[in-house]
Amino acid sequence: MELALRGVSAAPGVAFGRAVVLDRVGAGAATIIPASERARELDRALQALNVVASELEDIVSGLRGAGRNSDADIVETGVLISGDPELAARVEALVMSSGRPAPEALREAADESAQKLTLLADPVLAERADDVRSLGRRAAARANGFRPGTISGVLIASTLGPADVAELGMRAKGVALAGGGVTAHAAIVARSLGVPMVVGLGADALDVVDGEEVVLDGDGGVLVRHPEAGRIAAARVEAERRHSARQDAVANRLEPAQTKDGRPLRVLANASSVTEVIEALEQGAEGVGLLRTELSFLDAPAWPSFAEQASFLGLVLAPLTGRIATVRLLDFGGDKTPPFMSGATGRGIELQLESPDALKTQLAAIVDTGTEVKLRILIPMVTNPKQVRAVRETLATVLGGRPSPQVGAMIETPEAARRASEIANECDFLSIGTNDLTQLVLGLDREESKSAPVTNARVLRLIDATVRAGNAAGIPVDVCGEAGSDAIAMPILVGLGVDELSVAAARVGEVRSWVRGLDYAACREISAKLLLDQPADAAG
Ligand code: PEP
Ligand code: MG
Repeated sequence: MELALRGVSAAPGVAFGRAVVLDRVGAGAATIIPASERARELDRALQALNVVASELEDIVSGLRGAGRNSDADIVETGVLISGDPELAARVEALVMSSGRPAPEALREAADESAQKLTLLADPVLAERADDVRSLGRRAAARANGFRPGTISGVLIASTLGPADVAELGMRAKGVALAGGGVTAHAAIVARSLGVPMVVGLGADALDVVDGEEVVLDGDGGVLVRHPEAGRIAAARVEAERRHSARQDAVANRLEPAQTKDGRPLRVLANASSVTEVIEALEQGAEGVGLLRTELSFLDAPAWPSFAEQASFLGLVLAPLTGRIATVRLLDFGGDKTPPFMSGATGRGIELQLESPDALKTQLAAIVDTGTEVKLRILIPMVTNPKQVRAVRETLATVLGGRPSPQVGAMIETPEAARRASEIANECDFLSIGTNDLTQLVLGLDREESKSAPVTNARVLRLIDATVRAGNAAGIPVDVCGEAGSDAIAMPILVGLGVDELSVAAARVGEVRSWVRGLDYAACREISAKLLLDQPADAAG
């Protein structure tokens, strides 16, 4: 019988393979090293730390050689951690005073350091906690005689650091973590490598037996034990399809994204990290249509400061010189509520307008870091035109004589779609968020409403109304929800007349190739028929 463990999708793709379970507690966990042997044991532990440091240095130069500088910077943090005297002092105390064996001392010392980091108010440092734990595990594995390079299959662990994923990811078919988060660096590296990854599976994931066959669904966020033959076959087909689609995408990145009958579509990328931006550009993205700024600050203890936001934006915008960069204002609320906001009922711009300083700070950081890109500012969860005017007013106060970036509204609430004309009159562009729009209009679970329900009459009519409003105002209309990369929904959206599609970085090339295979006139006919065929009361 299949057993599905549910987690959260952290990197797309489907993998089938044998499970490789890391993180088994070492056999020597309960051993106490006699006092006379402790100095030698300490030596073994410190040697393991050195070995890991030089392995990480090799990974860093490999990544730099491959032009993956941002990944290299991430892994380089591990080199610094391995040389941290405080970590070495902890290891020494654990071995020399408590008689802990080298692997356990390394793991425990790293856990203690990580624990200290998570208590810090600085979210960037707190994120390093995973890196420190990962380093401890790597060093413990080396002290136990484990050598890398032997792993191929679906990797299962409690958590993994970015270096583990960078090193193991090229061989591993997928990564499944009991803990971890979608914004952790490990997830960023997995996405950039195209390795499917699911996080937050819970402790049950560690019950998987080494060598057992599993299917990992990185899109659905599921790890399936004892998969049935049909599921395995489907996973194999999907993995093969993705592999060749990526190769085609990179090879065809300079081909125009234009329908057979000449309608150009701008294909942009959704991103929340620099690695996704780089992947998107490799696949031919013209720029970024949705930068989800909030995902980097979900653990924030307060509204992120100017410096925190400027450092994040500086990194992400750097590869986009001369290209469109659509930076969305922080879309906190709902399932993206940081601790300092717990209990808040609003979402997106509503929350930020309640904290005018936070809005001003973010706009200042965006304007200051966006000087080399074609900057667009996107407002999330808009419900009325007044909100757009309020953002423009605050924006004017931070410009200091510089030209204003374009300002656009997400149309992702039924209220916004119904007032699309009024909102369009205040905007330079509109972006339809089909994920929230579909959920809110139909009252569905968002996970389930990723694709097909977009073609529901009530949703389609709101999209149609939004496109018409954009046309009447003479501004472009983008779709940045998942529907833009859904094989059924995408031609219908094109037929409704959207100008731009902003899709997950890893899907850019595929969507561009779909555009080349479309006939715009045929899409228009299908969309018009779909709208006409809907019952008269479907407009909701
Ligand atoms: C959407 O709702 O469609 C959207 C793109 O926003 P997010 O997925 O970030 O909520
Ligand atoms: Mg949304």
